[in-house]
Amino acid sequence: MDLGIKGKRAVVCAASKGLGRGCAEALAAEGVDLVINARGAEALEATADAIRRAHGVSVTAIAADITTEDGRAQVLAAAGDVDILVNNAGGPPPGIWTDWDRDAYIAAIDANMLAPIAMMQALVPAMMERGWGRVVNITSQSVRAPIPALGLSNAARTGLTGFVAGTARQVAEKGVTINNLLPGIHATDRAIALDTGVSKAQGIDMATAKKNREATIPVRRYGTSEEFGATCAYLCSVHAGFIVGQNLLHDGGGTNLTV
Ligand code: NAP
Repeated sequence: MDLGIKGKRAVVCAASKGLGRGCAEALAAEGVDLVINARGAEALEATADAIRRAHGVSVTAIAADITTEDGRAQVLAAAGDVDILVNNAGGPPPGIWTDWDRDAYIAAIDANMLAPIAMMQALVPAMMERGWGRVVNITSQSVRAPIPALGLSNAARTGLTGFVAGTARQVAEKGVTINNLLPGIHATDRAIALDTGVSKAQGIDMATAKKNREATIPVRRYGTSEEFGATCAYLCSVHAGFIVGQNLLHDGGGTNLTV
């Protein structure tokens, strides 16, 4: 299927690795020019180079922390007229509900709620003026069913979800869609970090920690960044203009819900 977005321009935040990179790769494969971001310059430049070589699109790499005002200003200065915005950042650390103090909550809310909101506030008005735009926020399955060890994620991302629910319905008449894409467990560095936490907490080896987590997923494996990116690219396509304010689980059936 031709997604109809060749020649469009996208900002993909937190995209040197993992799910953000999967989204950047899938958009580039459709001929979308990119501004990509991450904090670490080396991995980011390597990813930008690989995408340029594989897909022949223009890729601008901005090494900056997207959770800070200064980092966002650097990304926005490079952005230009953007048609597509993919919001992403690292996830908060695991723990238990008694662990977290005000600073921990502020950091999670900055990264996983206020940063994507600020990026939308900066870029969506011009999309509305031009009459077309797509925003995909990478959130988590934790907004549909809370994950006990990820209380910071449960809390901060649900705030973003509420913002999107209200805002998506105010911008849709101008041809701009905003949706959230909710990863379940995917084979990225984040999954390795969480497996490590489980392995330490339960005194089991990494292979067993992974096997136990795979057993909680009906497809019995972790998802891939490629699958995730392809779904993101579809939500950014011309075919997805009637999908507004949704929270699409990409979790191999792992979240046990009826609707
Ligand atoms: P990942 O493999 O660890 O990759 C994270 C990417 O984001 C890297 O490119 C990293 O590069 C960049 N990044 C992190 N913090 C950043 C910041 N403050 N500013 C700019 N770039 C930043 O993680 P992932 O698995 O792709 O996860 C992406 C998001 O989905 C996270 O919020 C995660 O919590 C969520 N999620 C993941 C899973 C999963 O199973 N993988 C499940 C549910 C939710 P630098 O470190 O160099 O900045």
